[in-house]
Amino acid sequence: MRKKLVAGNWKMNKDISESIDLISEINKGLNSSVFDKADVIVCPTFISIYPVCEYLKHSEIKVGGQNMYKETEGAYTGEISAKMLISAGCRYVILGHSERRQYFGENDTLINQKMEKAITSNLIPILCVGETLSQREENKHIQTVTEQVKSCLTDIKASNEQEKFIIAYEPVWAIGTGVNATPEQAEEMHSEIRGILKELYGEDISEQIRILYGGSINEKNSTDLFKMKNIDGGLVGGASIKAESFTKIINSVQ
Ligand code: PEP
Repeated sequence: MRKKLVAGNWKMNKDISESIDLISEINKGLNSSVFDKADVIVCPTFISIYPVCEYLKHSEIKVGGQNMYKETEGAYTGEISAKMLISAGCRYVILGHSERRQYFGENDTLINQKMEKAITSNLIPILCVGETLSQREENKHIQTVTEQVKSCLTDIKASNEQEKFIIAYEPVWAIGTGVNATPEQAEEMHSEIRGILKELYGEDISEQIRILYGGSINEKNSTDLFKMKNIDGGLVGGASIKAESFTKIINSVQ
């Protein structure tokens, strides 16, 4: 049985003191029993990771980075390594977010290299995949996501004993637009992704890998999305920087 997971992607929002205000409100808004049903992750900006982790020392909320580079260290101005994220307190890292693909030219080859580096460094990557509106309109959404999943997972091992990675299906047309995929549209893609995982890793392992949905999740649509068989939780953008909305989304996990 896969435990649900709700992750908040704060994107380029909140300076250090605003981050502390936000995490303290989120923390106060969550009853400890919620962690029996769901894992909770927040992904602040790089400079806020350490203070947020310090704040969360005695909390069950975990922290992730929003990106990292594929190399260990060196002359890569502006980049951050897996080891640095871990030293600041991260357990997770978002990789391949569509904003990284769209604005910073990231492709599946680079994302695959980052996946490898994250996993061998003991970070759990949340791999983002998803089609654009035109790809969906041309009925190429399944083909697009299939190619992304297979390329980004090339030579990546999964395991029965330990969670190695998480996948987030985030249709680009649903991110930040207020138009979410319907539970049926999301479930269709999640079940396709589960099928690819089965091909790659076999039935047992494929049933254990968590697949999150992301794209305009809010407290009104989360219950219906999270009810679907292959939707194991959500990656939340805009609604994760409002403590009340984020805690309501987490509390909507059944
Ligand atoms: C995201 O950026 O990962 C995301 C899902 O954003 P939003 O919830 O704002 O659509």
